Amino acid sequence: MEVYEGKAKRIIPLDETKVIMEFKDDATAFNGKKKASLMGKGTLNARISALLFRVLEENGVKTHFIGVAGDNRLIVERLKMYPLEVVVRNVVAGSLKRRLPLEEGTELPEPVVELYYKDDGLGDPMINRHHAKVLGISEDEIEEIERTALRVNSILRDYFKRRGIILVDFKLEFGRNGKGEIVLGDEISPDTCRFWDAETKRSLDKDVFRFDKGDLIEAYGELYGRLLETP
Ligand code: 5GP
Repeated sequence: MEVYEGKAKRIIPLDETKVIMEFKDDATAFNGKKKASLMGKGTLNARISALLFRVLEENGVKTHFIGVAGDNRLIVERLKMYPLEVVVRNVVAGSLKRRLPLEEGTELPEPVVELYYKDDGLGDPMINRHHAKVLGISEDEIEEIERTALRVNSILRDYFKRRGIILVDFKLEFGRNGKGEIVLGDEISPDTCRFWDAETKRSLDKDVFRFDKGDLIEAYGELYGRLLETP
């Protein structure tokens, strides 16, 4: 396996069962149309992801996380990834505003799960279970993926609530390991989640970069600090 270079991460092979996931300082938004390099972003995202993967593992969710390997690198289990982005939403924000006649900030009566086909060329279109089946992903697999995504949501939503932060929405990616198990992969960081301060509703995530709402490193640093503060 060769080194795989994505927009925000690099995947470096380690051995038969493990790879290194290196978080870059590069920030991109709007399908790569907006770009910047922000010193320290890679390290913050690696640390936040490691912390959240540990929280999930402690709560019985199978993740690819094995350990930390330096400031901006994690050792993770090698997975065969599903070409899916699984989004879970608790509060109306982002693209949901273009889909439902609801105002930003409206709490949803129950979490909403969405599936997207991960393909930059097509602009990551939203798909349903029937489309997934055509892509070779069975209904049983989708069911397990959605069930796990909702479990991740309930664990993390409570975890952030205790720290005065609203988990608005987030994106997950899943894969299969060597044993054939469905495992949570990729990252869980302010690049892939929306976090709002519960009192001020201020963004502590990539929306700071997307919509020029301030200093991304300051926002990610504050988020990480608040996670470390409350054990
Ligand atoms: P939306 O559909 O509102 O743009 O995104 C919903 C949530 O999923 C947000 O927390 C957003 O950060 C995350 N998300 C959706 N697609 C992507 C993607 O392609 N890359 C990243 N980093 N996050 C995504």
